[in-house]
Amino acid sequence: RPPAHCPPDVEQLGNATWTFLHSTAAYYPNRPTPNHRANMLLLIRAIPTLYPCSHCADDFGQDVKVNPPDVSSRAGLSKWLCERHNEVNLKLGKKPFDCTLEKLDERWKNGPRDGSCD
Ligand code: FAD
Repeated sequence: RPPAHCPPDVEQLGNATWTFLHSTAAYYPNRPTPNHRANMLLLIRAIPTLYPCSHCADDFGQDVKVNPPDVSSRAGLSKWLCERHNEVNLKLGKKPFDCTLEKLDERWKNGPRDGSCD
């Protein structure tokens, strides 16, 4: 793993990007305004054009074409994003994440019940 002052490799970039995207989904409104929905769609649809790992960007773009974003609610968006991340996990031979809202909120919003992240 390269030192922190080095430019990010594909792993670091991916980890930081998933952290941003899952955190943003975890705090997305339960009842988003048209403005929230439009901006979330712009954010997701920008990735295939702008993400600075071209094969990652291409594969994500293909996946999003087949599985259109659900920006209708926090729960819907969180699940949709979890499933997209699981597609990448599958491709890389990583374990799938349990995409229930309970597990997603524990990981990205509330932390575990044992208080170990408080
Ligand atoms: P990450 O996969 O980065 O996950 C970070 C944390 O998220 C995990 O520790 C876990 O707690 C949690 N998590 C795991 N799965 C889920 C899930 N489904 N839902 C919610 N939380 C979850 N790398 C490549 O080598 N090739 C690619 O084609 C590629 N495509 C990518 C496309 C996109 C859009 C992005 C954002 C990243 C891509 N990556 C790709 C990077 C790859 O997904 C990982 O980020 C990278 O391998 C580092 O993995 P990690 O072990 O740090 O965990």
